[in-house]
Parts: sequence; structure tokens; C-alpha cells
Amino acid sequence: MKALIYKGPRDVQITEVPDPKIEKPTDVLVKITSTNICGSDLHMYEGRTDVEAGKVLGHENLGQVVEVGKAVARIQAGDWVCLPFNISCGSCKNCERGLTGFCLTMNPGNAGAAYGYAGMGPYNGGQAEFLRVPYGDFNCLKLPDDAEEKENDYVMLSDIFPTGWHATELAGLCPGESIVIFGCGPVGLMAAHSALIKGASKVIIVDRHPDRLALARKIGVIAIDDSKGPPVEEILDLTGGEGADRGCECVGYQCHDPAGHEIPNLTMNALVQSVRPTGGIGVVGVFVEEDPGSKDQLAKEGKLAFDFGAFFEKGLSMGTGQCNVKAYNRYLRNLIHTGRANPSWIISHELSLDEAPDAYKHFDSRERGWTKVILHPQQNRARNRTRSTTARKGTPEAAHAE
Ligand SMILES: [Zn+2]
Ligand SMILES: [Zn+2]
Repeated sequence: MKALIYKGPRDVQITEVPDPKIEKPTDVLVKITSTNICGSDLHMYEGRTDVEAGKVLGHENLGQVVEVGKAVARIQAGDWVCLPFNISCGSCKNCERGLTGFCLTMNPGNAGAAYGYAGMGPYNGGQAEFLRVPYGDFNCLKLPDDAEEKENDYVMLSDIFPTGWHATELAGLCPGESIVIFGCGPVGLMAAHSALIKGASKVIIVDRHPDRLALARKIGVIAIDDSKGPPVEEILDLTGGEGADRGCECVGYQCHDPAGHEIPNLTMNALVQSVRPTGGIGVVGVFVEEDPGSKDQLAKEGKLAFDFGAFFEKGLSMGTGQCNVKAYNRYLRNLIHTGRANPSWIISHELSLDEAPDAYKHFDSRERGWTKVILHPQQNRARNRTRSTTARKGTPEAAHAE
């Protein structure tokens, strides 16, 4: 089959690889029809991780089941399914408690496994024509009869929609509260989408890319451009001097100032300053145990100069870590099915698999207008198009007007 593999820093290629097979009776094989490029794929693309050359990337996958192992009972060939980026067993201590992002058996010695990802186990990703899904009964989210019609919405259930939702959960957001989100990439935008669905009274987002800020404004979010000045004061002004009730970190360890200099503690300390005393902070941006490629001495060892004194004085709480997709995806699927959520409004480009290497280049350089790329491996170049974010039925405004 055709697949996108990692060759080396800023070098991904489409190549022929062996078709995945049913290896265990609990496996399911899925023909991938939609698979996204994720901001976290860029950490690998840029060569900042130790992902092995030859690995098929892609952890945001949706498709149709083509074959099931003998021990698979619930899922059948022909089912449309969305796969959480986490691969989990369903029976370990953490999985039993719904913490499937920290499965203890799928990546022995570590908590958590994923498709096509550095340090997350030996699993190939879904930026390919087919994908092997371990423990198919547990990991496949079955989609309803509008699966094809709303495919671009449902594929967001694989990662960014639940991850954005998780950021607001970790922060402890309740209806009526205000929330500030650092990072207006796909996850930050999904955190904003989630906060609005949950009934936040005020949603503030901080970034500097005009196209992304414009997208946020379109759904009723207050967008702060931090290239025009430090954002904390503006956040305090917007919240009566007190700070937002909740804050989300949706940037991660490569956060940088508007001039492009990486400052690993930039967003975390800004959150401490801009969340009100006794508020909560949710961190879903990726931070790593070590980052030898960093210029920052502490960051090389995965450490951060965090304003812990202020954090303590304010009695803040904080939740961190990757999303347990299965804790939310069933319910977020239902929000999409009933029209209460339509996360596809963030998609900027729909492309074929062949165009993926080029798309990585554009997305990595944060080119204007490249918000979210979705690949359709079963389609050829002819059908490709760049989409306008509002061309599709169901504008963001419509979703929140209900
Ligand atoms: Zn992702
Ligand atoms: Zn498990």
C-alpha cells in the first residue's frame, strides 16, 4: 500500500510499504478515508524527536473496516469507525478507569501508546491506505449513518476535538465561567469550540497568526494578538482585573515569542499570571521529558523555570497530560450527529496522500491559511481542493447559535 513515512528531519515521503495484516485475533483492519496532519506531527517532522526512519506517521484516523480478527465481536466489516489516537488495551488498571491515554500494556515500560508517533510504541500510523487497529472492539468508535456525510467532522474525534475538550476539563471549566486559551492552533481552536459548547461566559484566545485569530473571532471568541504587546494585561482588563476563571495551554514545549525565539516557560508563566486566584489550568500542549535540540539549558532536560511561588500563592490547580480520547469521543460524536458541534470548520485544506509531503512543508512553516490539513488516501489528486472555512454547510456561527 501507499503510505507517508518519516525519512529524516523535514523529510517525509510517500512510498510503498507492506499492507498491514491481522496479526492478533483482536485486530481490525481499516481502510483509511480521512487522516489529518497534526501539529504534534511537526515535532517529529522537524527532527526534534527520536522517531525512527521508516515509520508511517498519522494518528488522526477515520475509515471503513475491511477485515476483523476472529476474536472481534462488536465491530464488523463495513462499519465506519473513528480511531482514538491513543491505542489502549481496555483491561489494564488505567484503561479500566477511563485513562486510556495512559494504557500500561500497549507500550511496555511507558504509560500510553499511539499510532505513528515517537516514543509511543511500535505502531504505524494512518497516513496510509490501510491501518491495523489493535483491540478493535475497544478502540473503534462506531459512527452513525451520517458517517460519510459528516466525515470531516467525525475525523476530528480522533484527537483534536477531544483534546481541546480535555483542556477545558483539566482546567475545571463550569458553565458561566471565563477561560483564556494560549495557542490558536487546531487544539486551541477546539478548546474554544468546546468552551462555547459548555457555556463559558467569555472565551479569550492568545496567538499571533492573523488567519487563526480571525477564525477564532468568527466563532465569538475574543482574540488577543500577542505580537502587539504582552497579553497578560489585556486578559486582566477583560476580566475586571481578576484574571480568567480557567486557563488552557495549547502550545507546548516549542512555544516562542513573536520574534520566533523559543521560551519554554512563556505560556505556563503567562497562565499563572492571567488566571484568577483559586482558578484552574489545563495543559494539553505537548511537553517532553528531554529536548536535546533546545537552546535552553533547562529544557534540554525537560525542565521549566515555572513561577511556582505565584502558582501556590494564588491557590491555583493544574491538570496535565494527553487526552484520554475514549473518555469523551462517544459523547462528542453525538454532539456532531445532532448538529451541536461541527469541528470541521477549522479545516483549511483537503488533499490526497500524494500531496502530504508538500502539505507538511506548508503547515510546518505556519503559512497563512494552513490551519488544518486533512488527507483522503483513497482519493487521487484530481479531487483536491483548498477549501474556504465557511464554504461548507454549517458555519461556526450556526453551530453556536443553537
Ligand atoms: Zn494529533
Ligand atoms: Zn490499558
